[in-house]
Amino acid sequence: MADKKDIRALTKEQLRNFFVAQGDKAFRGNQVYEWLWKKSAHSFEGMTNISKETRDMLEANFTINNIRVDQMQRSTDGTIKNAVKLHDDLVVESVLIPTETRTTACVSSQVGCSLDCRFCATARLKRMRNLNPDEIYDQVVAIDNQSRLYHDRPLSNIVFMGMGEPLMNYNNVLKAIEMITSEEGLGMSPKRITVSTSGVPKMIKKMADEDVRFKLAVSLHSAIDEVRTAIMPFNSTFPLKDLREALEYWYAKTKNRITYEYVVWRGINDSQKDVDALVKFCKFAPSKVNLIEYNPIDDGEFQQASDDALNRYITTLEKNGITVTVRRSRGKDIDAACGQLANKS
Ligand code: SAH
Repeated sequence: MADKKDIRALTKEQLRNFFVAQGDKAFRGNQVYEWLWKKSAHSFEGMTNISKETRDMLEANFTINNIRVDQMQRSTDGTIKNAVKLHDDLVVESVLIPTETRTTACVSSQVGCSLDCRFCATARLKRMRNLNPDEIYDQVVAIDNQSRLYHDRPLSNIVFMGMGEPLMNYNNVLKAIEMITSEEGLGMSPKRITVSTSGVPKMIKKMADEDVRFKLAVSLHSAIDEVRTAIMPFNSTFPLKDLREALEYWYAKTKNRITYEYVVWRGINDSQKDVDALVKFCKFAPSKVNLIEYNPIDDGEFQQASDDALNRYITTLEKNGITVTVRRSRGKDIDAACGQLANKS
C-alpha cells in the first residue's frame, strides 16, 4: 500500500473534485477537509458524519500521514521537547517554550539540514528530506494540545527555528503557514509567526513579493563577510551584500522590521570592529537585534563571549537607537535549546 496518496496533499478544490468524480457531492469534500485540518483527524474511521462506505473508499485510496509524538521530555523550566516520528519513521524535533504570558512553538521544517553552520548541532545531521505542509501543521497542533494540557492556555506564537532551513523548503513552509492562519485550519494570526532563516536572498525577495504577513528573523551572527563565512560557510554563496539588498527589498515591500539573531562568541565576533559592522548593517533596513545565549554543542571550539563583550554590544546598539533584546536559553537540560536539536533524546 506504499503508493496510497497522502490525502492532505490535496487542496480543498481537488478533494471536492475527487468526490464529484466518485459520483458523490462536492460538499463531501468540504466535510472531509474539515476533519483533516480543523479537527486534525488521524483516521478516516473517526469521521462520524461520513458514511461507512465512503470512509472505506477513502481508506482504500489515501493515507493520513499524521506525525506521532514519540517521546516527550519536560525541562525543569517548563520547556517540552518532542521527538516527532514521521510516517516513514524519520524523526524531527519540536519544542514548546512557555513564558509568563505566552507559549511559543519552535517547529522544524526539514529532516536534518543542508547548511553547515559550525556552531549548530542540527548541521551535523544530513538533510534527509523536506517536511510536508501537514507534517509542519501537525507539530503545531501537538504543541497547542500540550500547551492547553500543561499550561492551561492555547499556543500563542510559532517560530520556525527548529531543524532545517525554512527557506530551502519554501513552498511547503508557506502552505503550512497558510493552513495555520486559515480559518479552515488553526486561525492563528500571522503576526504571531516568525520564520527564521540563515538568509537566502532570492527567497526573501520572493516572500516580499508574495506579500506575506508573518515576521522575518535572520540569523546574522556577523556583519563581516570573512567572519560570517568562517562560521556559516553558506555565506560564501550568499554574501552579505546580496542579503542586505534582499532585506532592503523586504522592508520596502512589507514595512515589517527584521530581527537579527546574533550570538557573541569569544575570539570570533566579540571585538569593537564586529560591533561596529553590526551597527552599520542594522541601519540598512529597520531592524532589531536579538542577542542569543550560546548553547554549547561540543568540546568548546565555540564559547559564549564575556559579559563585558556582550555589554559592549548592548550599549553600542542602544546608543545608535537600535533595539536590542537578550534571549536566555530555555530547556538546556534536555538539549532543547537553539542549535541543540540533533535527535539525541
Ligand atoms: N535555519 C534557520 C532556523 C533554524 S536555527 C536559521 O538559521 O535561522 C534557529 C536559530 O538558532 C538560529 O538563529 C541559529 O543561528 C541559532 N543557533 C544555532 N545553533 C545555536 C547554538 N548552538 N546556540 C545558540 N543558537 C544557535
